Amino acid sequence: MKKIVLHACCAPCASYPINLLINDNYKPVVFFYNPNIFPLSEYIIRRDELKRYCKNIGVDFFEGEYDIKKFYEFVKMYKNEPEKGKRCSLCFNLRFERTADFAMNQNIDCFTTTLTVSPHKNSIQIFEQAHLVSLKKGIKFIEYNFKKQNGYKISRQIAKENNMYNQKYCGCLYSMR
Ligand code: SF4
Repeated sequence: MKKIVLHACCAPCASYPINLLINDNYKPVVFFYNPNIFPLSEYIIRRDELKRYCKNIGVDFFEGEYDIKKFYEFVKMYKNEPEKGKRCSLCFNLRFERTADFAMNQNIDCFTTTLTVSPHKNSIQIFEQAHLVSLKKGIKFIEYNFKKQNGYKISRQIAKENNMYNQKYCGCLYSMR
Protein backbone atom coordinates (compact mmCIF):
# COMPACT_ATOMS: atom_id res chain seq x y z
CA MET A 1 0.00 0.00 0.00
CA LYS A 2 1.21 3.46 -0.88
CA LYS A 3 1.40 6.01 1.91
CA ILE A 4 -0.51 9.27 1.59
CA VAL A 5 -0.80 12.11 4.09
CA LEU A 6 -4.42 12.94 4.79
CA HIS A 7 -4.85 16.44 6.14
CA ALA A 8 -7.83 16.10 8.46
CA CYS A 9 -9.97 18.74 10.15
CA CYS A 10 -12.06 16.52 12.44
CA ALA A 11 -13.21 12.95 13.06
CA PRO A 12 -16.60 13.03 11.27
CA CYS A 13 -15.09 14.55 8.12
CA ALA A 14 -12.11 12.17 8.20
CA SER A 15 -14.09 8.97 8.68
CA TYR A 16 -15.24 8.40 5.10
CA PRO A 17 -12.01 9.64 3.43
CA ILE A 18 -9.88 7.29 5.54
CA ASN A 19 -12.03 4.33 4.53
CA LEU A 20 -12.13 5.33 0.87
CA LEU A 21 -8.34 5.78 0.72
CA ILE A 22 -7.82 2.34 2.25
CA ASN A 23 -10.21 0.87 -0.35
CA ASP A 24 -8.15 2.61 -3.02
CA ASN A 25 -5.06 0.82 -1.71
CA TYR A 26 -3.52 3.77 0.10
CA LYS A 27 -2.16 3.74 3.62
CA PRO A 28 -3.40 7.07 5.02
CA VAL A 29 -1.28 8.88 7.57
CA VAL A 30 -3.59 11.36 9.28
CA PHE A 31 -2.24 14.85 9.98
CA PHE A 32 -4.22 17.22 12.16
CA TYR A 33 -3.04 20.74 11.54
CA ASN A 34 -5.81 23.25 12.17
CA PRO A 35 -4.61 26.41 13.95
CA ASN A 36 -7.77 28.10 12.66
CA ILE A 37 -9.93 26.37 15.28
CA PHE A 38 -11.17 28.59 18.10
CA PRO A 39 -11.37 28.34 21.06
CA LEU A 40 -8.67 25.98 22.34
CA SER A 41 -11.28 23.82 24.09
CA GLU A 42 -12.97 23.20 20.71
CA TYR A 43 -9.59 22.41 19.15
CA ILE A 44 -8.89 19.82 21.85
CA ILE A 45 -12.28 18.15 21.44
CA ARG A 46 -11.90 17.85 17.64
CA ARG A 47 -8.30 16.64 17.92
CA ASP A 48 -9.00 14.05 20.59
CA GLU A 49 -12.03 12.71 18.77
CA LEU A 50 -10.00 12.16 15.63
CA LYS A 51 -7.12 10.65 17.60
CA ARG A 52 -9.55 8.22 19.23
CA TYR A 53 -11.04 7.18 15.88
CA CYS A 54 -7.59 6.66 14.31
CA LYS A 55 -6.49 4.55 17.27
CA ASN A 56 -9.64 2.42 17.04
CA ILE A 57 -9.09 1.63 13.37
CA GLY A 58 -5.29 1.37 13.51
CA VAL A 59 -4.40 4.43 11.44
CA ASP A 60 -1.36 6.60 12.24
CA PHE A 61 -2.22 10.02 13.69
CA PHE A 62 0.02 13.07 13.95
CA GLU A 63 -0.67 16.55 15.23
CA GLY A 64 0.81 19.83 14.02
CA GLU A 65 1.23 22.98 16.08
CA TYR A 66 -1.70 24.99 17.39
CA ASP A 67 -0.24 28.28 16.18
CA ILE A 68 -3.42 30.35 16.18
CA LYS A 69 -1.48 33.64 16.09
CA LYS A 70 -0.01 32.54 12.77
CA PHE A 71 -3.54 31.90 11.47
CA TYR A 72 -4.78 35.36 12.49
CA GLU A 73 -1.70 36.97 10.98
CA PHE A 74 -2.14 35.00 7.76
CA VAL A 75 -5.81 35.84 7.19
CA LYS A 76 -6.04 39.32 8.76
CA MET A 77 -6.45 41.16 5.43
CA TYR A 78 -9.60 39.19 4.70
CA LYS A 79 -10.98 38.57 8.16
CA ASN A 80 -14.36 40.07 7.29
CA GLU A 81 -14.88 38.02 4.14
CA PRO A 82 -17.85 35.64 4.10
CA GLU A 83 -17.33 31.89 4.22
CA LYS A 84 -16.00 30.53 0.88
CA GLY A 85 -14.25 33.88 0.31
CA LYS A 86 -10.58 34.88 0.31
CA ARG A 87 -10.10 34.26 4.02
CA CYS A 88 -10.98 30.61 3.49
CA SER A 89 -8.56 30.31 0.54
CA LEU A 90 -5.75 31.53 2.79
CA CYS A 91 -6.87 29.23 5.58
CA PHE A 92 -6.66 26.25 3.20
CA ASN A 93 -3.29 27.40 1.91
CA LEU A 94 -1.82 27.71 5.39
CA ARG A 95 -2.96 24.25 6.38
CA PHE A 96 -1.81 22.62 3.13
CA GLU A 97 1.65 24.18 3.28
CA ARG A 98 2.22 22.71 6.70
CA THR A 99 0.77 19.38 5.54
CA ALA A 100 3.14 19.32 2.56
CA ASP A 101 6.11 20.00 4.88
CA PHE A 102 4.97 17.23 7.19
CA ALA A 103 4.64 14.79 4.28
CA MET A 104 8.12 15.60 3.01
CA ASN A 105 9.58 15.14 6.48
CA GLN A 106 7.96 11.72 6.59
CA ASN A 107 9.27 10.85 3.10
CA ILE A 108 5.73 10.59 1.78
CA ASP A 109 5.32 12.02 -1.72
CA CYS A 110 1.62 12.92 -1.81
CA PHE A 111 -1.17 14.41 0.24
CA THR A 112 -4.89 15.04 0.14
CA THR A 113 -7.47 16.60 2.44
CA THR A 114 -10.76 15.78 4.15
CA LEU A 115 -12.01 19.33 3.58
CA THR A 116 -13.81 18.39 0.35
CA VAL A 117 -16.25 16.14 2.19
CA SER A 118 -18.28 19.08 3.45
CA PRO A 119 -21.20 20.32 1.32
CA HIS A 120 -20.50 23.77 2.84
CA LYS A 121 -17.14 23.96 1.09
CA ASN A 122 -16.29 24.55 -2.54
CA SER A 123 -14.04 21.71 -3.70
CA ILE A 124 -12.70 23.75 -6.63
CA GLN A 125 -11.51 26.44 -4.21
CA ILE A 126 -9.82 23.77 -2.09
CA PHE A 127 -8.17 22.14 -5.12
CA GLU A 128 -6.84 25.50 -6.34
CA GLN A 129 -5.02 26.11 -3.06
CA ALA A 130 -3.78 22.54 -2.81
CA HIS A 131 -2.32 22.66 -6.33
CA LEU A 132 -0.61 25.97 -5.58
CA VAL A 133 1.05 24.36 -2.58
CA SER A 134 1.85 21.25 -4.60
CA LEU A 135 3.69 23.35 -7.20
CA LYS A 136 5.49 25.45 -4.59
CA LYS A 137 6.66 22.49 -2.51
CA GLY A 138 7.16 19.93 -5.29
CA ILE A 139 4.86 17.32 -3.79
CA LYS A 140 1.84 15.65 -5.37
CA PHE A 141 -1.67 16.60 -4.39
CA ILE A 142 -4.17 13.82 -5.07
CA GLU A 143 -7.60 15.25 -5.93
CA TYR A 144 -10.37 13.59 -4.01
CA ASN A 145 -13.77 15.22 -4.01
CA PHE A 146 -14.96 13.28 -0.99
CA LYS A 147 -18.47 14.71 -1.00
CA LYS A 148 -19.19 12.77 -4.21
CA GLN A 149 -20.98 9.41 -4.15
CA ASN A 150 -22.77 10.25 -0.91
CA GLY A 151 -19.47 10.87 0.85
CA TYR A 152 -20.92 13.40 3.25
CA LYS A 153 -23.88 11.19 4.13
CA ILE A 154 -21.63 8.17 4.72
CA SER A 155 -19.28 10.21 6.90
CA ARG A 156 -22.22 11.28 9.08
CA GLN A 157 -23.36 7.65 9.37
CA ILE A 158 -19.90 6.54 10.53
CA ALA A 159 -19.82 9.49 12.95
CA LYS A 160 -23.15 8.41 14.42
CA GLU A 161 -22.12 4.78 14.74
CA ASN A 162 -18.95 5.86 16.57
CA ASN A 163 -20.64 8.47 18.79
CA MET A 164 -18.41 11.20 17.42
CA TYR A 165 -18.64 14.82 18.48
CA ASN A 166 -20.17 16.94 15.73
CA GLN A 167 -19.16 20.58 15.58
CA LYS A 168 -21.65 23.38 14.88
CA TYR A 169 -19.39 25.74 12.92
CA CYS A 170 -16.48 25.55 10.51
CA GLY A 171 -13.77 26.35 13.01
CA CYS A 172 -12.45 29.90 13.22
CA LEU A 173 -13.65 32.78 15.36
CA TYR A 174 -15.19 34.43 12.31
CA SER A 175 -17.25 31.38 11.39
CA MET A 176 -18.84 31.38 14.86
CA ARG A 177 -20.72 34.56 14.01
S1 SF4 B 1 -14.64 29.70 7.81
FE1 SF4 B 1 -13.53 27.75 7.98
S2 SF4 B 1 -12.27 27.58 6.12
FE2 SF4 B 1 -12.93 29.72 6.34
S3 SF4 B 1 -11.29 30.75 7.46
FE3 SF4 B 1 -12.76 30.07 8.99
S4 SF4 B 1 -12.06 28.04 9.62
FE4 SF4 B 1 -10.99 28.54 7.71
